[in-house]
Amino acid sequence: MSEYSGRKSYRYKLTPTPAQEQAMETTLWRCRTLYNCALEQRKTWWDRGEGKSPTCYQQQAELPDLKAACSEFAEVNAQVLQDVLKRLDRSFQAFFRRTKAGEKPGYPRFHGRDRYHSFTYPQYGGGAVMDGGVLNLSKIGRIPIRLHRPLQGTPKTVTISREADGWYAVISCAGVPMQPLLPTGRETGIDVGLKVFLVTAHGLVIENPRHFRNSERRIAKADKHVARCQKGSKGRKKAVARRAKAYQHVKRQRLDFHHKTALMLVRENDVIYLEDLQVANMVRNRHLAKSISDAGWAQFRAILDYKAACAGKRVLAIPAQYTSQDCSGCEERVPKSLSVRTHVCPACGLVMDRDENAAINILRAGQARRALT
Ligand SMILES: [Zn+2]
Repeated sequence: MSEYSGRKSYRYKLTPTPAQEQAMETTLWRCRTLYNCALEQRKTWWDRGEGKSPTCYQQQAELPDLKAACSEFAEVNAQVLQDVLKRLDRSFQAFFRRTKAGEKPGYPRFHGRDRYHSFTYPQYGGGAVMDGGVLNLSKIGRIPIRLHRPLQGTPKTVTISREADGWYAVISCAGVPMQPLLPTGRETGIDVGLKVFLVTAHGLVIENPRHFRNSERRIAKADKHVARCQKGSKGRKKAVARRAKAYQHVKRQRLDFHHKTALMLVRENDVIYLEDLQVANMVRNRHLAKSISDAGWAQFRAILDYKAACAGKRVLAIPAQYTSQDCSGCEERVPKSLSVRTHVCPACGLVMDRDENAAINILRAGQARRALT
């Protein structure tokens, strides 16, 4: 059986004892401290103006000295600590990359208590290993794990993360077997909707689920509640926890919706064409900002790509060019502003929903490009 070339993550709920929970909490705390210290070190070097800062490798080489000086770090798995420095390095690499590209990214930030949620064992087997219904974590213990679905492929890394409703293990696997779906002989184009989630070239409209709105209201309410509570009070702590739960809830709803929508598209089509949207650019455009970030298009794209790859289907992105302006009936260019929801062609008389017209153009442009290659 052939394998999917990317990674697949499996997420399982952990049921730690209070002592294990405390141990994970302490590990998180130490990882965050290390992160902030290493960031401080890089910043100091940088500010000295020599135009360089310690590399990840140099910082990792200092870990043994750090452990000798502060024994509490010796109580954290060595590879977990190395991974903290790698995370910091990744955020610096991203910062440099964006600076080079002429953007103005923010300098990597110090992480407060609420902004550091996870730590990673970068090598499965080295400190973290499954043993039946138990996840064995070095320096923490044997934690019962709820395997609600079986793990496939070869486990590579284990990330322990604290979420609003408890602790989770995310196990990233390589070599996950593909699950090909039968070809249907159908192709379609999809366009990101402004009012709806997406529209296909065949006129299928996928609405944003109504429960998103309810969840949003819940979040707004929770936000207000937090703002009203006195800083440092017990009530505030509770309100913050409630808000975190509301966020987690909407995050999961959205993920579930994206999975279901992607699966439906991949089942019904062999090739799915879409526009190569620069989501970052679009979010900067105020008109589109709300609906695009709302819809989480980037996350959906990633899920769709992944599902298609696993099923032996294809997702092809085409450059965005006049897809919403051109008439899908006669190719006449019909300029329209974003507020115009309906495409009305003065040349051939075609009247059609704006997004559906665009989806048809995307399908055609994609097929034309494919014919050329
Ligand atoms: Zn026309």
